[in-house]
Amino acid sequence: MSVNIAIIGSGVVGSAFIKQLKNIKFPINLNVVYLAKNSQEALYSSDYQPVDLATYETAPTKATLSLPELAKFLKSGAYPPILVDNTSSPQLAAYYPEFIKQGVSIATPNKKAFSSDLKTWEEIFSNSSAPGGGLVYHEATVGAALPIIGPLNDLVLTGDKIKKIEGILSGSLSYIFNSLSTSEPSTTKFSDVVNVAKELGFLEPDPRDDLNGMDFARKVTILARIAGFQVESPSSFPVDSLVPKELEACATGAEFLEKLPQYDADFQKRKDEALAEGKVLRYVGQVDMDNKTLSVGIAKYSFDHPFSSLKGSDNVISITTERYTNPLIIQGAGAGADITAHGVLADALKIAQRI
Ligand code: NAD
Repeated sequence: MSVNIAIIGSGVVGSAFIKQLKNIKFPINLNVVYLAKNSQEALYSSDYQPVDLATYETAPTKATLSLPELAKFLKSGAYPPILVDNTSSPQLAAYYPEFIKQGVSIATPNKKAFSSDLKTWEEIFSNSSAPGGGLVYHEATVGAALPIIGPLNDLVLTGDKIKKIEGILSGSLSYIFNSLSTSEPSTTKFSDVVNVAKELGFLEPDPRDDLNGMDFARKVTILARIAGFQVESPSSFPVDSLVPKELEACATGAEFLEKLPQYDADFQKRKDEALAEGKVLRYVGQVDMDNKTLSVGIAKYSFDHPFSSLKGSDNVISITTERYTNPLIIQGAGAGADITAHGVLADALKIAQRI
């Protein structure tokens, strides 16, 4: 048995994915027939000869195929095709419904298609369940490879009723709040913690891209939709940005970081108030299925709550259902090249076993 694989993107996750794929033993033959190193350069041959993953970094490249050309190329191969999207490209994501309609299955950590407008989400899954439609696996779009989407889907498919989902789903914001707000009194400053997080590589080049909560809101949108909540878009519910209004206009991330200390006193006050109640501050996403509400922002948790003892940049999610009246809690690293790549590869292997 064989499948054809197209890998799009060879950045942080993409290159780790290629390394893992190169080294696994699997009963199904995994033919990489197309590898787009970036949006310009690709490796492939018109006779579907497998791309040599040992030399892809230096091998001569061709221009990438357009998305309709790529769909045609994959559809015309001798084996069922899987597209592995290791980019954050919105253009590629917007083309998923068409790929799936044409029988191309997708494994991806790219959140864009699943967290944009509801119409794209509906098209993806209706095309996937239509006869001849491709399969879609996207475990690594939330919490990297942590088993969240698979188990949540299983609960829904088997008739459980999701009541509440609550989680810390951003490694950078987890690190910032775990360091800032502890069960011991502390004068650790918000701006200092943000700077350390930046030095450790947890933050985007412009920290506001993490601190505005929008990436987090995309993950909450995905989970809510799986649970059966038809969320229109990640901007259709309240997201409490950690970027002070006055600093939204800063021209650069560096200027933002320079001015951030002006707001340290506000954070100190909030965490002191929480501490006085025996609580810590955490930046969380919440989906309340009974009341049909979603939110992303700062919440307070008592010292004995599992979110309060979170370490480093770990993610955690708590899912309360009719069956799990005591919530199901899943915790662990929610980012990193090798961790994310293994989530994507495991999805690709599941698809290979099913198609
Ligand atoms: P990255 O920027 O390192 O890599 C993305 C790569 O995709 C780049 O090499 C870029 O040239 C390429 N690319 C962009 N558009 C393309 C196109 N149209 N065709 C071909 N190549 C194209 O990013 P990354 O950290 O590897 O993240 C990849 C995806 O994984 C993103 O969607 C991200 O949100 C997701 N993700 C990453 C992590 C992590 O820890 N890095 C964790 C969870 C999810």
